[in-house]
Amino acid sequence: MLDFQDLDFTTEKFRELCSALAENYTSVTIEQYLTAGNDLPERFVLMRHDVDGKAIPSLRTALIEKEFGIRATYYFRAKRNIYVPEVIQQIEAMGHEIGYHYETLSDSNGDYEKAIKLFGEEVQRFRSICTLKTISMHGASLSKYDNRDLWNRYDFKDFGIIGEAYLSLGEDLNYFTDTGRGWNSKNNLRDFIPGRTQKFVAETTDDLIRLIGSGKMENLYITLHPDRWTSTTFRWALFWVQDLAFNSAKKALRMMRK
Ligand SMILES: [Zn+2]
Repeated sequence: MLDFQDLDFTTEKFRELCSALAENYTSVTIEQYLTAGNDLPERFVLMRHDVDGKAIPSLRTALIEKEFGIRATYYFRAKRNIYVPEVIQQIEAMGHEIGYHYETLSDSNGDYEKAIKLFGEEVQRFRSICTLKTISMHGASLSKYDNRDLWNRYDFKDFGIIGEAYLSLGEDLNYFTDTGRGWNSKNNLRDFIPGRTQKFVAETTDDLIRLIGSGKMENLYITLHPDRWTSTTFRWALFWVQDLAFNSAKKALRMMRK
């Protein structure tokens, strides 16, 4: 079934979004944002990606961002087909930040001791293949546990983590998320930062692009799920997987342009 939203959340639309962002804002990673102090660019965008489904579609968005000089932060769950070292390392090599999308409290059915042990193990799994400084919780919508509650009893700083993408960010950011396949959807539940009132609203990606071009917003914090953005040029990615060891990101980029 095709509805109008299928024509919105596409790779082509993502490219338009990146183009508008690159023209109007300087991108910073979550780590850069947390360590910049007063040195943040005058107008900046935090481009955050939660990789919930498969890892592969992230290569597509990562390459497009690289093309526009945008540095994003990619949070990967520590699950099969998502924690894929070859993909994670390629994305890091493009200049993006890699983060850990944790869900150990819901994985452990609310057992805090189990959850924090698993958290430590998964942090080490990431550190064995990439640099890891920040985390974001996965909002397991069917679970009764909120993974952030882990930090009521423990401190992620004990693991060398400098920030959490929901808990550590400023109140003054203009927040947009594609959860629910519509920006600022009311179906977002846990994806919204609690108590946040939204000054600017966008329903479609075109609305968001218009807002970006309007110059009204000083900064932006976008959360986008790469695997929800469909592509008409998906075949290159399949080829990329088959020949993963031999394909450079450059070659993949050339293929995507064809
Ligand atoms: Zn998630």
